[in-house]
Amino acid sequence: MKISEIFEQKKTVFSFEVFPPKKTFSIESISTKLAELSECKPDFISVTYGAGGGGASALTLDLCRSIIEDYKLTPMMHLTCVNSSREDVDKVLAMTAQYGIENILALRGDIVPELPRQTDFTYASDLVSYIKKKGDYHVSGACYPEGHPECDNAIDDILNLKKKVDAGAEHLVSQLFFENDMFYSFQEKARLAGINVPIEAGIMPVVNKAQIERMVTTCGASLPAKFVKMMTRFEHSPEALRDAGIAYAIDQIVDLMSQGVDGVHLYTMNQPYVAKRISEAVASLRSI
Ligand code: FAD
Repeated sequence: MKISEIFEQKKTVFSFEVFPPKKTFSIESISTKLAELSECKPDFISVTYGAGGGGASALTLDLCRSIIEDYKLTPMMHLTCVNSSREDVDKVLAMTAQYGIENILALRGDIVPELPRQTDFTYASDLVSYIKKKGDYHVSGACYPEGHPECDNAIDDILNLKKKVDAGAEHLVSQLFFENDMFYSFQEKARLAGINVPIEAGIMPVVNKAQIERMVTTCGASLPAKFVKMMTRFEHSPEALRDAGIAYAIDQIVDLMSQGVDGVHLYTMNQPYVAKRISEAVASLRSI
């Protein structure tokens, strides 16, 4: 099913993100986790795409296929272009057609100095328009409530996002954030700029300290005082920190749903226990 159809049917879309296993070249190692995550009945599951493509892209494709065939759910495949030529993208698209993958999150990808940069696509918007021309796909794009780290000017960043939507992105998924007001302010600016596609709020339940340290360095999300106090207070008790992180994410989601957000995209970090507790807590809110 196309994600645009899901948005037409659902009051609030509730989706998951998973990533392929990092240390093997088979998805078997995470099939139990995927089975448990699918029991939460997310509206769709997005699968990340490793930097550089290659073996990593095969795993992303395999996971998407498993989501369709084994769990009868809708996948959204992430696809980056910073290290891919047009020919590389064509090869992946040929596989999506074979596997029945209809939804693609078109991304530029992070610039990694060690990996050779390809020049066929400069921005995600170039990939969006290319994929739209290649077939009948639903194409989504990424957005950044606190601005993309490479763009100093929030207005330019929104205008660049508008170009991505004008190129054909039909839905946006946000970078994670811990302060809902940041998301509301971004959403308002996006609407004023004429961006009228559904915007899903990216929520990451933080359940251990190493995870948050990694997140802050890689995506630059700011941490509200309330969040920092929680981390500091419970950092030495893994169980308490996990429960506090889950409660914090639920609190964010309840507020977002109360404000009528288009959708919530849960960065599950491949942790079914966490995703299950959050899904159960907000289950009755999804249809109202
Ligand atoms: P773009 O939309 O191209 O934006 C990149 C920068 O260029 C921004 O600063 C933007 O303002 C600027 N820009 C865009 N268009 C123009 C223009 N026409 N003129 C001038 N400037 C412009 N990375 C992975 O490697 N794999 C993944 O699976 C993955 N999944 C992600 C999922 C989500 C929901 C998000 C939010 C990010 C994900 N990323 C992933 C990270 C992403 O690849 C990086 O954030 C990357 O740096 C930017 O990708 P983008 O698609 O947003 O790029």
